[in-house]
Amino acid sequence: MDIVILGPPGVGKGTQAAAIATEFGLAHVATGDLFRDAARRNTMMGRQAREYMDRGELVPDHLAVAMLLERLSQKDAARGALLDGFPRTLEQAEALDEALATKGRRVEKALYLTAPRETLLNRVAGRWICKDCQATYHEVFNPPAVAGRCDACGGPLYQRPDDRRETAERRLDVYLEQTVPVVDYYRRRGGLVEVNGDQPIEAVQHDLHAALGPQQSSGEPAGR
Ligand code: AMP
Repeated sequence: MDIVILGPPGVGKGTQAAAIATEFGLAHVATGDLFRDAARRNTMMGRQAREYMDRGELVPDHLAVAMLLERLSQKDAARGALLDGFPRTLEQAEALDEALATKGRRVEKALYLTAPRETLLNRVAGRWICKDCQATYHEVFNPPAVAGRCDACGGPLYQRPDDRRETAERRLDVYLEQTVPVVDYYRRRGGLVEVNGDQPIEAVQHDLHAALGPQQSSGEPAGR
């Protein structure tokens, strides 16, 4: 089964995707994490991507698609993936469909999380991320048990430079311009499920479950 999770920055995609991926045995593929990791390792791709990320812009499609396809070719993604932060443009959505079709697979569901702009900016401003396992926390809404340490792995927490207010505002504008058409793409094609992301984490999780549940018990073979 392949699933994409769509929505603006700060809506909770990462938090929800991690939980769903674990539960459904899917590889959690977050292109933002892949780019940040490449930037930390100072690879050529990482250096190119950082230029765009620091400004709150999208990395060019050819780089994003290359990064995604390389990750999808890894063994743990063979049984299906939960894509978090990809696709972000129509070109990426089409490239994904083509790549999955060559493996006899398709995006079964597009989970679409929404929340008002002010909620998103407040969430992004208080966000802390684990350097080691990328788990996300919020200093008010979802604090770690020990300040500055990840509950899951004990790793150090940091704040993303692109979570600063001006850059976060730009990321939201870019989302509206370039990624909202992707939502319409899945709406037309079928499989889009909209969930209110402006609720406590557990409530969002519950609604996502409800959206995924019937599909799990439908008995339809995946990828057909
Ligand atoms: P995220 O962690 O998903 O918020 O992504 C952080 C940044 O990585 C974005 O603002 C983009 O600069 C870049 N990025 C992540 N995924 C993509 C993608 N699919 N296409 C283009 N840029 C991306």
